[in-house]
Amino acid sequence: SNTLDIEAIRSQFPILHQKVNGKQLVYLDNAATNQKPQSVINALEHHYAADNANIHRGIHTLAERSTTAFEDTRKAVQAFINSNEVEEIIFTKGTTESINLVASSWGRKYLNEGDEIIVSGLEHHSNIVPWQLIAEEKGARVRAIPVLDNGDLDIAEFSNMLSNKTKLVAVNHASNSLGTINPVHEIIKMSHEAGAKVLIDGAQASSHLTIDVQALDADFYALSAHKMYGPTGVGILYGKRSLLEKMPPYQGGGEMIKDVSFDKTTFNDIPYKFEAGTPNIADVVAFKAAIDFINDLGKENIAAYEEELLSYATAQLNEIEGVRIIGQAQNKVSVISFVVDGIHHFDLGMWMDAKGVAVRTGHHCTQPLMDRFSIEGTTRASFSVYNTIAEIDIFVEALKDIIKKLKP
Ligand code: PMP
Repeated sequence: SNTLDIEAIRSQFPILHQKVNGKQLVYLDNAATNQKPQSVINALEHHYAADNANIHRGIHTLAERSTTAFEDTRKAVQAFINSNEVEEIIFTKGTTESINLVASSWGRKYLNEGDEIIVSGLEHHSNIVPWQLIAEEKGARVRAIPVLDNGDLDIAEFSNMLSNKTKLVAVNHASNSLGTINPVHEIIKMSHEAGAKVLIDGAQASSHLTIDVQALDADFYALSAHKMYGPTGVGILYGKRSLLEKMPPYQGGGEMIKDVSFDKTTFNDIPYKFEAGTPNIADVVAFKAAIDFINDLGKENIAAYEEELLSYATAQLNEIEGVRIIGQAQNKVSVISFVVDGIHHFDLGMWMDAKGVAVRTGHHCTQPLMDRFSIEGTTRASFSVYNTIAEIDIFVEALKDIIKKLKP
């Protein structure tokens, strides 16, 4: 019922076509990182085989090619998230570094004693710990929006938490643990009315949801290339120009300066002010191939297909006795976390691997969320556009088999 040719898509992913432990690989760990199409692998190889040179500083041909390819990715990201200006896109090594950049630079300048930063109970540690670090330094306080039983945020309680002490709200667009899609548009509007800035962690949204930072009116938006069919070690921070221009540099070094002397150093314009040192050029260049891959398929087509996979898998799991899905929000990306009565998730994950099925087990870098549900961890299956109903059947059969074997 979808418009995508999934077999043709699968053929673009060499890694999928292998056996693991004697079984055909079924890769369902996409929320951790998803696989890379041949076009991304080719772009990486082409960069090192044909164009490699350091960027921005050289006038020779390779330096120009390298610089152009690097800046073309910045333009592709601008279009992908619909930022107003290309200079509002800063390359980082990933969502984690993007969040740390805002905590260090914006936080150091604007946070004061008694201020409050509101995160949510659904956050990844990377959207909690950087705020705790800067809060400790500044005498500020980190508070968390509670999570309802179905995995949604308690927006009514969030409304009560907002006050003139709130300086920043940092929440994810979608949860990596439960899949919950948060009402970020509403959260941003409420936060702005209280006078707070908002950072959205888009690590899990970027490959599934349409992102429009202007329509959202997000102040900051962070994402990682490796969760959107692109290379590891690359991400971006989007920030509104008016904010980025007033923020001090994050790191000092080459590229981020205008003039350096021992008396006075002046800083470069955005985005370069925040890009000290030689960046991860090859992976940034290849990131564009990943964006092209998503755009060629169409985000809406991808989302519709993943929704099919999600609802099929959810229905299958709900049929199995002793399986409890954690987080059944109305709006979810294609992530299913579950626990099985009497079976530890590590054992389940190991037995799955023996059957060729790659799932993630543990707390998924969301320990406060696990505490909220009084569990230590879950088993998580997460789907990308190359997964199939047939693979979900293999996963479900494997799960039934393991339960039969391990159940006390
Ligand atoms: N936030 C969320 C919601 C995530 O899923 C992840 C990655 N698991 C991160 C932040 C951190 O991203 P990265 O490790 O690429 O910096």
